[in-house]
Amino acid sequence: MTTYREFHRRSIEQPEAFWGEQAKLIDWRQPFSKVLDYSRPPFAKWFVGGVTNLCHNAVDRHLKDRADQSALIFISTETGANRTYTFRELHAEVNRCAAVLREQGIGKGDRILIYMPMIPEAAFAMLACVRLGAIHSVVFGGFAAHSLASRIDDAKPKLMFTADAGMRGGKPIIYQALVADAIRLSRHPPQKVVIVNRGIDQNLKLVAGRDLDYASLRDRHLSAQVPVTWLESSEPSYILYTSGTTGKPKGVQRDTGGHAVALAASMRYIYCGKPGETMFTTSDIGWVVGHSYIVYGPLIYGMASVMYEGLPIRPDPGIWWKIVAEHKVTVMFSSPTAIRVLKKQDPAHLRKYDVSSLRNLFLAGEPLDEPTARWISDALRVPVIDHYWQTETGWAILSSMPGVEATPTKFGSPSFPAYGYNVKLLHEGSGQELGANEKGVVTVEPPLPPGCMTTVWGQDERFVQTYFTSFKDRLTYTTFDWGIRDDDGYYFILGRTDDVINVAGHRLGTREIEEAVSGHPDIAEVAVVGVADQLKGQVPMAFAVVKDATKVATAEGRRVLEKEVFDVVDKALGAIGRPARVHFVTLLPKTRSGKVLRRSIQALAEDRDPGDLTTLDDPTGIEQVRAAIASMRAN
Ligand code: ATP
Ligand code: MG
Repeated sequence: MTTYREFHRRSIEQPEAFWGEQAKLIDWRQPFSKVLDYSRPPFAKWFVGGVTNLCHNAVDRHLKDRADQSALIFISTETGANRTYTFRELHAEVNRCAAVLREQGIGKGDRILIYMPMIPEAAFAMLACVRLGAIHSVVFGGFAAHSLASRIDDAKPKLMFTADAGMRGGKPIIYQALVADAIRLSRHPPQKVVIVNRGIDQNLKLVAGRDLDYASLRDRHLSAQVPVTWLESSEPSYILYTSGTTGKPKGVQRDTGGHAVALAASMRYIYCGKPGETMFTTSDIGWVVGHSYIVYGPLIYGMASVMYEGLPIRPDPGIWWKIVAEHKVTVMFSSPTAIRVLKKQDPAHLRKYDVSSLRNLFLAGEPLDEPTARWISDALRVPVIDHYWQTETGWAILSSMPGVEATPTKFGSPSFPAYGYNVKLLHEGSGQELGANEKGVVTVEPPLPPGCMTTVWGQDERFVQTYFTSFKDRLTYTTFDWGIRDDDGYYFILGRTDDVINVAGHRLGTREIEEAVSGHPDIAEVAVVGVADQLKGQVPMAFAVVKDATKVATAEGRRVLEKEVFDVVDKALGAIGRPARVHFVTLLPKTRSGKVLRRSIQALAEDRDPGDLTTLDDPTGIEQVRAAIASMRAN
């Protein structure tokens, strides 16, 4: 068996041989003539001349061997719906949807904006688009009108595919009101809006000449067979906007062949899936994790995928494990945020179910703190694999690769660079390469491997400027994250480069302080931001969620716990890292993808406008921050 080290070395030293082999994991209509064209750095073209199609690889090619196996398992605890589609049924639905789109004049290169709840039609629409060679852009369903409008203006879609409503925690979110506002705000509104009517919005009214009812269109194409539009490997397959945690979202453009090969390879080497098995990714198709691993990854690999609409704690906090047990899920993928939500619940819910089918639980999206990692791995008794990636890369940059070699994990570390990524830690100022135990910016020496973004949609210049010009005289992809590598080669992510604060000349990552605060057993979760201070330049300020809110119900209780937290931080980092204040809240303001909106907390703490809050999940989080700051000022 190859070791991880050899495997990785070969991918870097002989990328063409390495990726040429991986390319066999997918079907090609016409073989490529060259594995890599890197004649125009930093733009990389993978599998030049190869002709393929994503929908063919995710659906059609499985009809031969697994037509009657499950492909899409849809479970909604919001509506009670529960439907499984075999590959044959998925194929039929995708063809119907493709016929509907084709009838509306959609073809190669046209953009389609998919603004959908987590229902099967969302996946049908994605696959139908790529079948036709159209470029889809999935926008998280339920995003406010303003966020939707800015993405419409950037992608300029010909058609929007949407639904009457989504559901969250039992409450309907009426999409049509949001869509109407977005179209009004937009400078390039789509000409057509196809609406899947779930019967949730009782007042749904179609706008004549623009809105179309999906069910009636579909009825006209029940036996449709729409031929696949074959694409050259580098032709774009989709656009997906980054989460917007640090500012304006960027339209990440992905190719066709590289994307398919990268996902197929990751299913094998990272996720250790097997064709015929079931994968459950708890994310949403509007985020890269769900985009890659609810739809394309598992299907390309011939696995069934669970598509879940609902919360992790409804009807009770055992729901995910019930799904794992019932569908014998072997690969599960979730986020630290979701696990922290479950950690606050009674663990008996987890023990009720037989989750022994699970091989690994993968987590990504945010730093995985040690207590959370320990809690879930003890509870599940399966390896928990933290892996690190970005919308830009489409798949993991750092991960352990149990499909290559079972390496021990270290809590708090997403392990090693994935094959294909030549990861370097660079000194922020000089750009010099750093050694073990030296903190630097996580960068990737280009060319980026297959599956990574090929450019920013419509803005080649911005792609180069944003991602490749952080270091003088050196064309290097920056992740905008801090990291460190230990003596054993394990990497640790230390937060975002713009989350660094400067306290009296000392540079501190807010993440390090957060880790320290989390070391107190009463703290469930914490966000630390740097706040302008006349004396010290900046001071850290902590907003902490306590496990048991009664402990901070009184001013005395808060004072005692704050003091204890100070002591914990002093011990871990020294007094320099000690927050000026620890505010106790029951909820942190987070984006809908579960990322803490530190920039808004910081703005409020500095008495500034919190900026765009439309990506917020629950507005009470930011209100609590506001209230905590106001009460501090009053005292
Ligand atoms: P934007 O780029 O628009 O500000 P974003 O960076 O939040 O938004 P994503 O691409 O969804 O958008 O998130 C990627 C980022 O999430 C990474 O750069 C990193 O900061 C963080 N991240 C992802 N996985 C991990 C992980 N396993 N450990 C630590 N941080 C992680
Ligand atoms: Mg980012």
